[in-house]
Amino acid sequence: MKQHIVIAIDGPAGSGKSTISKMIAKRLGLLYIDTGAMYRALTLKAMNTGADLEDTQALTELARSTEIELRDGPKLRVFLDGKDVSEAIRTVEVTDKIKHVAKVPGVRHEMVILQRDIGRRASSVLEGRDIGTVVFPDAEYKFYLDADVKERARRRQEDFATAGKKIELDVLIKDVLERDASDFNRKVGPLKKADGAVVIDTTGMSIDQVVEKLLSYIK
Ligand code: C5P
Repeated sequence: MKQHIVIAIDGPAGSGKSTISKMIAKRLGLLYIDTGAMYRALTLKAMNTGADLEDTQALTELARSTEIELRDGPKLRVFLDGKDVSEAIRTVEVTDKIKHVAKVPGVRHEMVILQRDIGRRASSVLEGRDIGTVVFPDAEYKFYLDADVKERARRRQEDFATAGKKIELDVLIKDVLERDASDFNRKVGPLKKADGAVVIDTTGMSIDQVVEKLLSYIK
């Protein structure tokens, strides 16, 4: 393997990106970078500070003055201005509000700078929506994971169940479709398959099958 490599993994909510990216990083001894966690952390800060979610200038300034740090380990920890927010960023309330923050060009600009900076320092697996298109278009390996909507919603339902929350499938299908709409349609950094990305439809595949499939492309 080359000395420094970047593996870009993009895809919609529930496509299995996080689980797969973590496992690939572990198997290859690379840093795991969850870029969604960064948008989540900034959204949490905007909510906690009462920022106007329609004020793009204020959100851009917030992004510039906020310190977001990811600490890789057995479990990825996310720090917002020095405070561990790993659990707080996973609530339905935060997920609901991310679209307002993630569509702001100035916010995305700041996040991309941060993500490139981390990815250049160590060989990494980055997962998100715009990694292969914007953050690291020259990544050595690019993947686009997908799965049908019902399966993606069902996976999210299992995640919530593991966290002790029971949520109806219909509610999660609606949620996944809403997130798709904002992720695919925003003007800056929309979710789309990067040039040269390997597309893998994970519907009906086990986690191990997907991991092995990805690894088969990585030399
Ligand atoms: O990956 P996760 O579902 O945690 O991401 C949360 C949200 O953050 C996504 O729905 C998307 O709107 C946003 N995001 C983004 N660009 C990325 C990663 C996530 O806009 N690179």
